[in-house]
Formats: sequence, C-alpha cells, structure tokens
Amino acid sequence: MNRQKKLMITAHCVLNQNAVVRDWERAPGAFNKLVKVLLDENVSIIQLPCPEMAYIGEERPPKTKEEYDTPAYRILCQHLAAPVVQQVADYHKNGYHIIGLLSIGKSPSCDTLGEKGVFMEELMCQLAKENIALKCFDIPESYLEGKDLETVAVLKNFLLEK
Ligand code: SF4
Repeated sequence: MNRQKKLMITAHCVLNQNAVVRDWERAPGAFNKLVKVLLDENVSIIQLPCPEMAYIGEERPPKTKEEYDTPAYRILCQHLAAPVVQQVADYHKNGYHIIGLLSIGKSPSCDTLGEKGVFMEELMCQLAKENIALKCFDIPESYLEGKDLETVAVLKNFLLEK
C-alpha cells in the first residue's frame, strides 16, 4: 500500500470540541463534516495541541487576545509548537506535501487570518525559520456542525487547489 504523503495540520478543537470554552462548542465531538473532507481525500491529520487547555484548563473563562498575550503564554505556545514544527520539517524534508493549516476564525489563540492568534503567531514564526509557509483555512466563527455546508464545500475546493 502506497502512502499518499499528504498532510493537513489542524487546530486541536477541529477534532475535539471538548477543549473549547464551556458552552462555546459547535459540535458534540468533532467537526465531522470538515474532517471527513480530509479523510475522503486520504489527507492525514497532524493535530496541534490546545494551548488554552494547557495554560488554564477546561474550566476557563473566555479571554481576548490582549489578555492571552503575556510572556508566560507566549513561552508556553513556543514550547507546544516546537515538537510539531520539528515533525512538520521532517515530513517536508522527506517530500511530504503539507497542504495547509485548518485554523479557528476569531480565536485569540488559533486564528490565522484576521487578527492572528497568539499560538498561531508563534507556530508560524517557527515554521518560517524552517522555510515552511502554510496556506491557511480559517474555519469561520459562524460554522456550526451539520448546518454550514458552504464551509464544507469551500474546504473541498481548498483541497482540490492543492
Ligand atoms: S485554543 Fe485553539 S485549539 Fe484550543 S479551543 Fe481555542 S481555538 Fe481550539
């Protein structure tokens, strides 16, 4: 069996909505329909850690980017990103196609488009040092599992372009 050598990096909560701020979950478990788009194309998944869980835990209040943007949180994010970047760089060096990064719109930690989240800023900075630039697909704040077929279709197109 030949491996397809295609990988997508995802924010942790794409696969685990239990990690989000309480009552802010948008699926009972995972973003199944988005994940299925990846699996149907035999795209493997590298799941990032959840930096906010690691920092404050499950019972945390909502916070803004400004509130998260402290030296201690940045150092934690750097430590969490480092082993992932090491793996991604190794795949990259060995000819794997890193299709992109599935991120979370409007998250103070994991947004990659509008105002970048703290964790994604640190991750991108480390990837840049390895000369790796990723295309990002920010899951919109309005995404609700099972209700937002447009985002599912846009993700399909995103994969086809790669
Ligand atoms: S910090 Fe990132 S991975 Fe964790 S719940 Fe928020 S958006 Fe998801």
